[in-house]
Amino acid sequence: MTLGPLIIVSGPAASGKSTLIRRALARFGPRLRHSISATTRQPRRGEVDGVDYHFWTREQFEQAIAAGAFLEYATVFGKDYYGTPRTEVEPYRSRGVGVILDIDVQGAEQLRPTYPDAYSIFLVTPEGALERRLRQRGTESEEAIRRRLETAREELARAHEFDYQLLNDDVDRAAAELCEVIARRFDETN
Ligand code: 5GP
Repeated sequence: MTLGPLIIVSGPAASGKSTLIRRALARFGPRLRHSISATTRQPRRGEVDGVDYHFWTREQFEQAIAAGAFLEYATVFGKDYYGTPRTEVEPYRSRGVGVILDIDVQGAEQLRPTYPDAYSIFLVTPEGALERRLRQRGTESEEAIRRRLETAREELARAHEFDYQLLNDDVDRAAAELCEVIARRFDETN
C-alpha cells in the first residue's frame, strides 16, 4: 500500500487556514484526514475536545513529550504547547489516507527532516486582512491579537522555506487551488 500524502499547511492565525482545510476535507472525503493536534490552550467558544484539538493540561502534554508521543511540538505565541501526536498521522498514512496538518512554522521545520516527502504550503494573506479578521473573530483579547500579529510578521519572513505559497485573496479561488495541489500529491504518490 502506498503511503498517503502528508500535507503541511502553515500561515498566520486568522489567515483562513481552517476554512480552506475544511473545504479540502469536504472535497476529498475519506481519502483525506485532518490531524487533530494536542494543545494546552483553553478551548474557544464552540470548540470541542477531540474534534478541534485534544485539549490537554500541561502535565498531560509534558508526559506525552517524555513518552516520545509527538512527531513535533512547539510553544506557540510564547505561551501554549501545541503538538502533533504520532497516532494522528502514521496509522492513516500507512492505509493510504492523506493527512493534512495545520501547524506553525516551527512544527513544519521539525517535520521536514523526518518526512522528506511531506509537502508544505504557506498561506499568505493580503496586507491588512489579518488584523481585520482577527478583530472580527472577536475571540481574542487585545494582548492575544497583538501577539498573533507579531508572530504573523515573523512567520511571513519564513514563507520561502515552504514548497508552495498560496494566496488567500478569495476563499473559493484559494480553496480550489489548495484542492488542486493536494490532488497532485495523490497522483504523485500513487
Ligand atoms: P490556534 O490557537 O489559533 O488554534 O492555533 C495557533 C497556531 O498553532 C496556529 O498557527 C496553528 O497552525 C498552530 N498549531 C496548531 N496545532 C499545532 C501543532 O500540532 N503543532 C504546531 N507546531 N503548531 C500547531
